[in-house]
Amino acid sequence: MKKTLVTGGAGFLGSHLCDKLIERGDDVLCIDNFFTGSKENISHLIGHKSFELMRHDVTFPLYVEVERIFNLACPASPIHYRHDPVQTTKTSVHGAINMLGLAKRTKARILQASTSEVYGDPDVHPQPESYWGRVNTIGIRSCYDEGKRCAETLFFDYYRQHQLEIKVMRIFNTYGPRMHPNDGRVVSNFIVQALKGENITIYGDGQQTRSFCYVDDLIDGMVTFMDSAADFTGPVNIGNPGEFTMLELAENVLHLVGGKSKLSFHDLPQDDPKQRQPDIALAKSALNWEPKVCLKDGLKETVSYFRKTLKLG
Ligand code: NAD
Ligand code: UDP
Ligand code: UDP
Repeated sequence: MKKTLVTGGAGFLGSHLCDKLIERGDDVLCIDNFFTGSKENISHLIGHKSFELMRHDVTFPLYVEVERIFNLACPASPIHYRHDPVQTTKTSVHGAINMLGLAKRTKARILQASTSEVYGDPDVHPQPESYWGRVNTIGIRSCYDEGKRCAETLFFDYYRQHQLEIKVMRIFNTYGPRMHPNDGRVVSNFIVQALKGENITIYGDGQQTRSFCYVDDLIDGMVTFMDSAADFTGPVNIGNPGEFTMLELAENVLHLVGGKSKLSFHDLPQDDPKQRQPDIALAKSALNWEPKVCLKDGLKETVSYFRKTLKLG
């Protein structure tokens, strides 16, 4: 039974990861400060003999005995990470230092939930791991982007300096059940708006693109990466290469939900990337991983989740 720590375990991705780890027999310690996560996401695990929940903020040291660490703690949606940008940078940077210090002392293997945001507004498309990115250091997204970039630097310095077993995973836009209904991310916004019959809010002209990965595929990639050979550090892109404009996403959602929603156009937020698509050649060759769930099927699951939890439609 592996003793596994999941930071940010009460969040969207973290809670699905806890489910997967429990299912395969790990002994899971979930820590979270509940900034964006919720007890509801993990309520079904409370009382399970292999699951323990602790309220803790990763910007403070943590002394526990573990063999594996998945470091997911960090607000991920623009609304949330901009709410307290200084805390966002602290969470990424101090959080990484503390979790790396813990990994160093316990000799635990540690995985960092990094992000496609390290590529910024990319001028190389699709984005391979070798691309260094195009990121504004002083904009409103910088607390998140630069925090995550600095965390990657720390991971590789602990690897070189202290021979830690690290895994750096660059996660591209992921969606599915347990997304926060009000975190402003595009998939949850469009679905909730369509279910309520409200206007679908398109930022800019809606021609910007994203590539959306269903949560089950993402978690499968995360666990496979953690279990991979010790010398495979990444960084590795995990995401679904299917690329859509925001107008196409809106059409897909409206088609599934039905109803009378219209599109309404709003200003594009500062530094909003124009295009994003993962190059997943490395994940395919090194991990034998690729996503299986197409956008239509993933959206169906997500729509029925929001229908049920928000009692809509
Ligand atoms: P989320 O907001 O649902 O989860 C983050 C969790 O971290 C929450 O439970 C939150 O309460 C917790 N948290 C925040 N600050 C903390 C702190 N200082 N100490 C302890 N806990 C803290 O977001 P998510 O989508 O589940 O994202 C999880 C991770 O994956 C994040 O690191 C995010 O940057 C990364 N990621 C997600 C996506 C995506 O599309 N969902 C894309 C790229 C990267
Ligand atoms: N740390 C922690 N748990 C541990 C060991 C370390 O939270 O079990 C934190 C501690 O706050 C420390 C940081 O991780 O400052 C970095 O640890 P490291 O050993 O790299 O550096 P140092 O202790 O020399 O600052
Ligand atoms: N977006 C949109 N309408 C919304 C929310 C987001 O058009 O109601 C756009 C946003 O401007 C961006 C894309 O959708 O171009 C993805 O936004 P999200 O916040 O989900 O993720 P990120 O920008 O971090 O990839």
